[in-house]
Amino acid sequence: MRIAVIGAGPAGLTAARGLDADVFEEHEEVGLPRHCTSLVSSAGAEAVGVPLEVVVRSYSLLTVSNLAGHTLYFKLRRPVYLLDRPGLELKLAEDVGRIRLGEQVVAASGNYLRTRRGVRGPYDLVIVAEGFARRFADRLERVERLPALQVDAKVAGRPLEEIVVVYNRGISRRYFAWVVHIDGEVYRIGLADTSDVPGKLMRLLKLLRAEPVSKPFGGRVLAGPPHRRLVWGRYVLVGDAAGLTKPLSGGGIILAMRSGRALNDALRKGDLGSYEDSMRFVRMRLALARKAYDLMYGRR
Ligand SMILES: Cc1cc2nc3c(=O)[nH]c(=O)nc-3n(C[C@H](O)[C@H](O)[C@H](O)COP(=O)(O)OP(=O)(O)OC[C@H]3O[C@@H](n4cnc5c(N)ncnc54)[C@H](O)[C@@H]3O)c2cc1C
Repeated sequence: MRIAVIGAGPAGLTAARGLDADVFEEHEEVGLPRHCTSLVSSAGAEAVGVPLEVVVRSYSLLTVSNLAGHTLYFKLRRPVYLLDRPGLELKLAEDVGRIRLGEQVVAASGNYLRTRRGVRGPYDLVIVAEGFARRFADRLERVERLPALQVDAKVAGRPLEEIVVVYNRGISRRYFAWVVHIDGEVYRIGLADTSDVPGKLMRLLKLLRAEPVSKPFGGRVLAGPPHRRLVWGRYVLVGDAAGLTKPLSGGGIILAMRSGRALNDALRKGDLGSYEDSMRFVRMRLALARKAYDLMYGRR
């Protein structure tokens, strides 16, 4: 079977592992540019086999705050890991044969793909692993996407601990902001919302008296709901392309790898239907979480 994979993120790379597949990646390097905060639960990381060498540090304290006097502290039962995200993708890429870097897929027709470099194919199966770009997936089902931006910044005196999640309508109306301690006085500070995200990030940095030490980076956080169907004829969706992201936290790395692995197993068994079955429970949980999201922020 000839397989094409659109996107060399965690979902596409895990799905393509050890298969005879052409993986198309629009960027010139795997794992870059970075967009993600890179936090995962240690339990999830173990379950999907995140290599320990890409774990940068771990956290055991979560603070929920409105940065206006109300704060709750949670001691985490299992630690949360900060990952070296480009490192994770480079590691996953070691088990993938053909990655065509710098080759964006722009159209799909029948068994063929059109990329910026020409027509490719024929393919029996196309794995859509395009992440939050969702140029193909959005034509099948819609998922709410919120612009998100973050920056690494110095905060003198290190006033905040480990992971701080900020719920404050004045900072983000439809999501939350985050302040994650990275090292020394450096924090990763970011937020997602529906509008004026750069302006809101500037105001948050000012409030925290934070001095940026990196360029801003980000993308689109997915807030669900997950796709109802993952297999559409010869097209199969994984990771963010399938809307497999936790609506209340934006976490999608583990689900990207989990769906990639489930698809890889199904392809090895020659039973594509088992992919959809194996993700059913996950999708039900994400759909429920989306209902909780609607209760918190209202329906759109
Ligand atoms: C600001 C932000 C912070 C986040 N923080 C976290 C976090 O802390 N923890 C967590 O678990 N999740 C987080 N996420 C979500 C997480 O990044 C995604 O869920 C995860 O990357 C999904 O993996 P993926 O492989 O599906 O997609 P991606 O990682 O987005 O990979 C998709 C790949 O496809 C390529 N591509 C797209 N379109 C094409 C095309 N047409 N042709 C060729 N290549 C293409 C892209 O260049 C990219 O390399 C965050 C997301 C954002 C935006």
